[in-house]
Amino acid sequence: MKTNRDYVEFTNQFSAHNYHPLPVVITRGKGIWVWDVEGKKYLDMLSGYSALNQGHCHPRIADALKKQAEKLTLTSRAFHNDRMGEFLKKICDLTEYEKALPMNSGAEAVETAIKVARKWGYSKKKVAEDKAEIIVCENNFHGRTTTIVGFSSETQYRAGFGPFAPGFKIIPYDDPETLKKEINQNTVGFMVEPIQGEGGVIVPEDGFLRKCRDICDQKKILLILDEIQTGLGRTGKLFAYQHETTKPDILIMGKALSGGFYPISAIACDDDIMEVIKPGDHGSTFGGNPLASAIGIAALEIIIEEDLAQHAHDLGKWFMDELRKIRSPLIREVRGKGLLVGVVLNEKARPYCEQLMELGILAKETHEMVVRFAPPLIIQKKDLQWSLERISNVLCT
Ligand SMILES: *Cc1c(COP(=O)(O)O)cnc(C)c1O
Repeated sequence: MKTNRDYVEFTNQFSAHNYHPLPVVITRGKGIWVWDVEGKKYLDMLSGYSALNQGHCHPRIADALKKQAEKLTLTSRAFHNDRMGEFLKKICDLTEYEKALPMNSGAEAVETAIKVARKWGYSKKKVAEDKAEIIVCENNFHGRTTTIVGFSSETQYRAGFGPFAPGFKIIPYDDPETLKKEINQNTVGFMVEPIQGEGGVIVPEDGFLRKCRDICDQKKILLILDEIQTGLGRTGKLFAYQHETTKPDILIMGKALSGGFYPISAIACDDDIMEVIKPGDHGSTFGGNPLASAIGIAALEIIIEEDLAQHAHDLGKWFMDELRKIRSPLIREVRGKGLLVGVVLNEKARPYCEQLMELGILAKETHEMVVRFAPPLIIQKKDLQWSLERISNVLCT
């Protein structure tokens, strides 16, 4: 029988070494559980960085995928297909926007939002040619394209990949005063994550988004929210911005939009913004294809029908309370919202993730000192209880 180690060594011969994964080789997943090639079972507390909110291999999405795969998978956007309209209507109905534009990876949806915001700036706000500026935050994570890493504040994401696209200004996160000061006549938008997931599960002050909304309104710039990780139930609301009575001008989603089956992303906004995009301005061979649309429809229906946002709200609150009860000199802070939870340690988190793995829990460090716990939203209290015993074990040694 081949071991985890055999697979790791084999794969490393052929794979670019652009990741540093835990040494576990997963071969099967069902719901909140995954199994490695040696038959050991783990609770998945990463959920593909929140792409698996619906759990692994949700039968309803698998079914939609199989049925569509036997019928029609790709037309390209040179022709219409009979599934995309239904998918985009579903997004618009849920988000209460008038239009949606489908892409594949999250980074592509971010790029799409940048293009739409810039073109809106030139055509509606009359910003001088090539002068458009977008304000972003320190410690952001919006993806890995060259434009996007160009406005990252993470040295490693940038080092060796320049030159970068101009037109971005970085301000501190959770700092509305600075946002207000940095907006000028060329600013077209402010792009921000409601909670910085990759940045270490950083939760801003209550009212942050509300203040950003007011500033963007006053200064007539677009509020662009990257909800690729925080959206679709993760934080205890369908979208994290709904914790505050506010709404962005452009909403970016991805990850759980497919329930982990396939890269599907989209932006949503109203017509007065989306109308700046004309035929030929933007596109993607696979964006909005019928297979993706069928998967996306099922993925969204599950989030609504299984009430995953409310479930994340109820369990997340309880889970964080329980984590806060763990008495350990290792733990500096427990923070998060819904089932997006970060346990900040006083040391590097990696060895503790490795110990958790030994005990059957898959979690990954983010930003060195933080262990992120973000299980599929279908998880039950008893399984979280099971995890708490092990988490407590590892952190109390
Ligand atoms: C994961 C993520 C992205 C990038 O998505 P990809 O599908 O990996 O390109 C962008 N923004 C946020 C907030 C993310 O969590």
